[in-house]
Amino acid sequence: MTDRPHLFELTPGALRDLVASWGMPRFRADQVLEWVYRHGVADPAAMTNLSRRDRDTLRDRLTFVDGGVIQRQEATDGVQKLLIDWSLEAGGPSNAGAALPVLGDTASQTECVMIPAPGRRTACISSQVGCPVGCRFCASGLGGLDGNLTAGQIVQQVWQLARLPGVERISNVVFMGMGEPLSNYENVTRAIRILNADWGPAIAARRITLSTVGLPAQVRRLAELDLPITLAVSLHAPNDEIRRRIIPWAEFVTIEQLVDAGRFYFDRTGREVTLEYILLAGVNDQPGHAHELAGVARRLRSNVNLIRYNEVNGLPFERPEDDDVHRFQAILRSRGVNIHIRASRGRDIAAACGQLRHEHRHPRDEKAPI
Ligand code: SF4
Repeated sequence: MTDRPHLFELTPGALRDLVASWGMPRFRADQVLEWVYRHGVADPAAMTNLSRRDRDTLRDRLTFVDGGVIQRQEATDGVQKLLIDWSLEAGGPSNAGAALPVLGDTASQTECVMIPAPGRRTACISSQVGCPVGCRFCASGLGGLDGNLTAGQIVQQVWQLARLPGVERISNVVFMGMGEPLSNYENVTRAIRILNADWGPAIAARRITLSTVGLPAQVRRLAELDLPITLAVSLHAPNDEIRRRIIPWAEFVTIEQLVDAGRFYFDRTGREVTLEYILLAGVNDQPGHAHELAGVARRLRSNVNLIRYNEVNGLPFERPEDDDVHRFQAILRSRGVNIHIRASRGRDIAAACGQLRHEHRHPRDEKAPI
């Protein structure tokens, strides 16, 4: 990363001021943004309606694409994943498609994933390098937090995923990659405004989902923002006792407090909250757990997304049996809860959050620290 302003975090007004201070007409800013967001071009040399001198100035004074893609993977189901190293020279070496023989420091790497489905292309993006929460079952939390991504780095991930083969346009964004988005609140909300802007990627607010482990005060702040995005709470446990065992931050916040914050979010935005629930075999997937979860979901009037766990090398958690998953779902349905089982995508490329970076730290034949 350089200290030049990053194009992906600039609004039209901010970019107009900048180009004017460099002696260009203010409308240059609008031409640049049109190249970037409408034509997918972020190389000033290719912006052919700009003078040669202005193109050179823009190249010297702005960062267009930050960091470098050090690996691209494609799963058999069409899911594509990028591993980005933010410490690389801006726009630096991209050998997408092949693994580098020597990888950089994983403390500066994040992942983002493009998930195709009929009629939609979803970008699953990271908000931080590593994660401060440290969920026991998650690869991203293993090494703790290495840093926050800037608003520009967050927006850039969506732009880069839209440039992948067969994508054209990203229709949905989910903050479900690496990091706890609400602990990087300012950058994340700034990025969401840009993603939602007509002059930018123009992604409808309801098609942007922020997934949080649950910080009630920040959830309330988000509710007041006039940005009616979809809120997903990563509950993952039916009661506080199990939650504290698998999510360290559950020491500081109870499920009841989350339910209160979720209700507040619904009242202010009109958006129904989703509860995310990763099924871990033998830990939280038993019938009694399903009944407890139904009670929580009904108090919050939320829908539930069940996710089958993707095993992480070195972690002591297992994927549940299909029969247990369906029994769990049936119990919730019988209690009147709107529930879906989220399809596992990209399993052959370790698409669960943080897994690719984790596997660079801990190749399959090593044991990761637990
Ligand atoms: S599951 Fe989410 S909140 Fe928990 S450690 Fe992983 S990235 Fe962080």
